[in-house]
Amino acid sequence: VSLVDDLTSALGPGAVLTEPDDVAAYCTDWRGAGSGRPLCVVRPGSTAEVSTAVRLCHEAGTPVVPHGGGTGLSGGALPDDSGSQVVLSLARLRAVRGVDAAGDTLTVEAGVVLADVQAAAASVDRLFPLSLASEGSCTIGGNLATNAGGTAVLRYGMARDLVLGLEVVLPDGRVWDGLRPLRKDNTGYDLTQLFVGSEGTLGIITAATLRLFPATPRHATAWLALPSVEAAVSLLPVVRSRSGGSLAAYELVSREALDTVLRHVPAARDAFGEPHEWYALVELAGAATDDSLDDALEAALAEGFEQSLVADAVVAGSPSQRESLWLLREGISEAQNHDGASLKHDVSVPVTLLPELLADTAARLDAVLPGVRLVTYGHVGDGNVHHNLAAPVGGSGDDLRAAAGDLADAIYDAVAERGGSISAEHGLGTTKRDANAARKDPVELDLMRSIKQALDPAGLMNPGKVLPADSP
Ligand SMILES: Cc1cc2nc3c(=O)[nH]c(=O)nc-3n(C[C@H](O)[C@H](O)[C@H](O)COP(=O)(O)OP(=O)(O)OC[C@H]3O[C@@H](n4cnc5c(N)ncnc54)[C@H](O)[C@@H]3O)c2cc1C
Repeated sequence: VSLVDDLTSALGPGAVLTEPDDVAAYCTDWRGAGSGRPLCVVRPGSTAEVSTAVRLCHEAGTPVVPHGGGTGLSGGALPDDSGSQVVLSLARLRAVRGVDAAGDTLTVEAGVVLADVQAAAASVDRLFPLSLASEGSCTIGGNLATNAGGTAVLRYGMARDLVLGLEVVLPDGRVWDGLRPLRKDNTGYDLTQLFVGSEGTLGIITAATLRLFPATPRHATAWLALPSVEAAVSLLPVVRSRSGGSLAAYELVSREALDTVLRHVPAARDAFGEPHEWYALVELAGAATDDSLDDALEAALAEGFEQSLVADAVVAGSPSQRESLWLLREGISEAQNHDGASLKHDVSVPVTLLPELLADTAARLDAVLPGVRLVTYGHVGDGNVHHNLAAPVGGSGDDLRAAAGDLADAIYDAVAERGGSISAEHGLGTTKRDANAARKDPVELDLMRSIKQALDPAGLMNPGKVLPADSP
């Protein structure tokens, strides 16, 4: 009997997909990249079914590729083209298992879409702060597996800072129930954090207990025109000190990135009459009773103007104006999908080194492919920028793709010289895997291999992701 038959009799025929039309959506990612071909796609409906499916795959020696919302940007959820891997979708694990408003915790299954996690928190007047442009499609399991960042890291941290406990199906099918809502638990190695950011290579997250925070329904939001990246970095402590703990987002957008949005997002409008080199979206957030936000923002901007750090500013006067300003930032990824070939990079350095990183990177890239366009934007408060490269004006996507390796080296070298990271929040998957292995401290890489070997000795859990395939 074949594995597909075993899976079908264990999970039911509706939970196992083999027809090319049915599996196609699991073989390419959000940008249409990838050309994998799975043996089948399984869609279990419970943790017990995930466990059964993984156990059957383990017994058959068949690799498993966990799949959440498919919005990952590093190829981590895609099967290879061997036709021998089973894609395991968590999409049917969609229950909110419980919310504890007094304890500020929420327990959800892995397939719950991030926007629904946020809504479950809001329904008890709490905040789950993780926020990404893909929040309408990505799942909390995928967010934790990639340790997603997004626009609220500045105040609340990465996905790993928002989780207290996990339930995980291990590569042999055993279930680890680590769904503890404890804020204090020093009883050994932190296994929860081991699985966060492991991109499905150590086990399958089936549920998570998350941290909640006081709701922040009040916002003061401004879109700023800035003379330089230096100004953006210098303005950050000004806004911080004027706003106490209420600074919630500080996002950087280059003119090239804004132009891409204005070209492709019909509702987007330039907030200013004339173009500027750089923009920032600054947002303070507080409780419903917090009347100080507008004054704090105004004071920060006044100081910014006085120090010539801000060239122009628009402050949102209503929720719909706030949405329009956010569209200029959140629309970038989507707009780029309609703007021809693009090479995506996601790097971080200490915040104060951002200006010199951007200048150095631009010069190195231009030397590789003259005129290459840098669609740069990111989370400046975290020292994290997305360098998405587009073909020179009038140039072809083929030229861009042909130079991809040299362009990537230029970016990574500039980052490495400043002690930065070549993947700040998108993970390694397959797209950054080899570049990471080539640059990572050998001791660190060795420890990563040991962990993989200890948890997945047969190498069946998302093989070839994060660590090169020849790794144990
Ligand atoms: C428009 C857009 C904007 C984005 N903005 C940001 C951003 O600001 N910050 C940021 O960090 N990221 C961003 N991302 C990428 C981000 O990584 C993903 O959106 C998200 O975190 C992945 O969730 P997913 O459910 O789609 O996972 P998938 O894409 O399905 O999977 C991603 C990885 O996690 C693994 N995986 C998925 N589910 C599980 C599970 N339950 N257990 C174990 N492993 C699992 C997969 O095998 C794969 O390796 C953006 C993506 C898009 C398309």
